[in-house]
Amino acid sequence: MARAETTSKDRNGIASAPASRLAAPIHEKWFLWIRDQEIPARSEEFFTVMNPATGEELCQVARGRAADVDAAVQAAAEALPLWSGMPTAARGRSLLEVARRLREAEDELALLETLNNGKPLRESRQDVEKVAEAFEFYGGLADKLFGATIPISPGYFNYTLREPMGVTAHIAPWNYPLRLALRSVAPALASGNTVVLKPAEETPLTALRFAKVLAEAGAPPGVFNVVPGFGPEAGAALASHPRVNHISFTGSVATGVEVMKRAAQNVVPVTLELGGKSPNIVFADADLDQALEGTIKAIFTNAGQVCCAGSRLLLEDSLYERFLTRLVDRTGKIQVGPGIEDPDMGPLISEEHRQRVLGYIRVGQEEGAKLILGGKAPVEPNCQGGYFLEPTLLTEVSNWARVAREEIFGPVLAIFRFRTAEEAIHLANDNPYGLAAGVWTSNLDRAHKVAAQIQAGQVYINDFFNGSVASPFGGYKRSGFGRERGMEALWHYTQVKSVCIRLKD
Ligand code: NAD
Repeated sequence: MARAETTSKDRNGIASAPASRLAAPIHEKWFLWIRDQEIPARSEEFFTVMNPATGEELCQVARGRAADVDAAVQAAAEALPLWSGMPTAARGRSLLEVARRLREAEDELALLETLNNGKPLRESRQDVEKVAEAFEFYGGLADKLFGATIPISPGYFNYTLREPMGVTAHIAPWNYPLRLALRSVAPALASGNTVVLKPAEETPLTALRFAKVLAEAGAPPGVFNVVPGFGPEAGAALASHPRVNHISFTGSVATGVEVMKRAAQNVVPVTLELGGKSPNIVFADADLDQALEGTIKAIFTNAGQVCCAGSRLLLEDSLYERFLTRLVDRTGKIQVGPGIEDPDMGPLISEEHRQRVLGYIRVGQEEGAKLILGGKAPVEPNCQGGYFLEPTLLTEVSNWARVAREEIFGPVLAIFRFRTAEEAIHLANDNPYGLAAGVWTSNLDRAHKVAAQIQAGQVYINDFFNGSVASPFGGYKRSGFGRERGMEALWHYTQVKSVCIRLKD
């Protein structure tokens, strides 16, 4: 964050903080991005974006509403014939160029992400790299979206065409602002669609900076548009817009339901990537050093603000005490601090969210769980002012407790014990969500059997969060439907046309 007393301004009105804290300029005001132009909101209003590590204002961002969404959708619709009609290899090459430019801009994008979202710089850098990988993957596939020929009878020639959906809307959350917004944008663009993106109101900066990367890589104006603003205003207007042909939504269940209702009015398909309460199961025959590090990664990455966080730890009875002792010791060593200092864990996104997480810790204790570590704000001087919370461990949690069933979205691990694999699978599946699961064991048979019985879109064995852009990602049950990443994502952004010709006798 550019602290008021230490910032200076250049002649373009760009405020700069000391190089020790900020290697890239942060504009004081940010605008909508429509047709490759930075434009103010129709209302000329702005909203404030905060630095979660300091609790201070970071900048002002144009507050998009329905009229702005309409202008962005119009721009995307007008750009569609040019983008979808372009030679597919050329479209692919421009996405590969985006990947190259993303890596070039990594320092700046990572810094912006860390200042805006709070995550450690190292994690922001990984996010930029993941986005570059997505543009490479889908850029390479742009000219490989083949149709099929269907042998119905000698008198007919039947083939299929895979065509873009048209204007696609992308509504993104704040926890991985750049990575989650662009994981759906990359396949949408590769398959010839144009885009209107509504980033989360807490974290619009990297999406706006990315827009320039895309334009510099040669994408025509209007292909990619960004309307920052609030959910009930810009988000709702985008989800309801009659000219939108597909909606990709990542966020909470409640908002996902709202988006789906709006899409239904226009008979528009949606991809919903929602919350999770993922089990992480450790069997006694696992490599315990690996399982310990994996457990820490599963819940404390991005301060637990991860949809597929391993927020329920299931420990086999015979290793419970041993593992717990090591877990408490290891968790106690986690360094919490401003993301810019690259600690193990940064702050939560907002004070409101920190209070929500603290509320869950209180409710958990009221429902019988034992708080064995954390549960409060850290006292270190570099954590004052920001929205920090100590890594927290809860034991003796009932699987019916709210902290076992509801997504906390913070650094809070609920710990359970089990005696048999069947009991572990029952505990794992007895939950409304089904996004991910971890399984730690050296028994290959057991690993595959448990993976087959877990109700989740992702199962990680002897690791957590593994897989790549090529691996499909999505939810079972209340975690949503449809898949992002992998070849699967491309099927959401294309529609199949069957063409059947009667041949001359
Ligand atoms: P959220 O639902 O509050 O907001 C997500 C987005 O929806 C934001 O851009 C917001 O402005 C917009 N929005 C809010 N109200 C809207 C409305 N009425 N109409 C249209 N858009 C609206 O979620 P959040 O708090 O930003 O993110 C956290 C949630 O996202 C968690 O539940 C988390 O699990 C989930 N998430 C899921 C995945 C996944 O891949 N499954 C990934 C990351 C986060």
